[in-house]
Amino acid sequence: MLSGKLHDKVVILTGGTSGIGRASVKLFCQEGAKVVIGARNEKAGEALVKEVQEEGNGEAFFVKTDVSIPKQVENLVKQTVEHFGRVDVLFGNAGILLTGTAPDTSLETWQRTIDINLSGNFYLAKYGIPALIKSNGKVIVFTASELGTVGASEDVAYCASKGGLINMMRAIAIDSAQYGIRVNCVAPGPVETPMLRIWFDEADNPQELEDIQKEPVLLKRFADPKEIAEVALFLASDSSSYMTGSVVVADGGATAWYGL
Ligand code: NAD
Repeated sequence: MLSGKLHDKVVILTGGTSGIGRASVKLFCQEGAKVVIGARNEKAGEALVKEVQEEGNGEAFFVKTDVSIPKQVENLVKQTVEHFGRVDVLFGNAGILLTGTAPDTSLETWQRTIDINLSGNFYLAKYGIPALIKSNGKVIVFTASELGTVGASEDVAYCASKGGLINMMRAIAIDSAQYGIRVNCVAPGPVETPMLRIWFDEADNPQELEDIQKEPVLLKRFADPKEIAEVALFLASDSSSYMTGSVVVADGGATAWYGL
């Protein structure tokens, strides 16, 4: 174990089989957590549970979940309570990136983006908060994006979903403070995950798109998923005990300037 920052804490983490979620499952377990992975890919989920078991720190449990389906999120919370008897942390991380201007964005793309990136986190809060209150659990973390704080070209649905998530987080923080529950967002810049890589690979000129994305980043590189998992760990643990309603931007400085 590392320093046991999440020792024995039961964490529900959505989208845990890839990228930032996967790095967070590993890090949280290294910190002693019992992580329930809510994701769609059963094979990847079970493989990750086995990997955690073999590493010998913390514990992981997989519940097949599509976060855009309310009943499945309700089931994720129910299964967590049945398996571990409590819930201490909700970490809404699942998300998709579908690009386009408003005229170019199909109604299906718009709806799917809102269903997963925004409504999926609402369902987690709706069904998870009563379980947190019962367990005396204290923390909610959402993965938003720097694109929830500034606009970007050809990203209408994504920007809307992440901006909505950030303000939903604030509203939930207000309602949850009376229970001692802290609610915060991590807002990453570009992170080297399958989400980013698939977007580049599908472009006409992947290298050009990659260079454009790197250009505003002051540190001139994409984040490693582990660097974002470390911020999520900070928000999920007592290290951030005086923080609620906050957005922690981890974007290599991209939104610190306007290009001059
Ligand atoms: P990723 O594609 O590697 O991981 C996303 C995870 O979400 C996957 O496990 C995927 O299966 C899961 N997911 C998608 N739809 C789902 C659904 N309906 N139900 C359950 N799970 C679902 O990408 P990532 O970069 O690790 O993304 C994680 C979060 O970080 C997302 O919310 C994303 O918007 C956000 N983010 C990523 C970047 C980046 O540059 N990679 C930047 C800012 C924010």
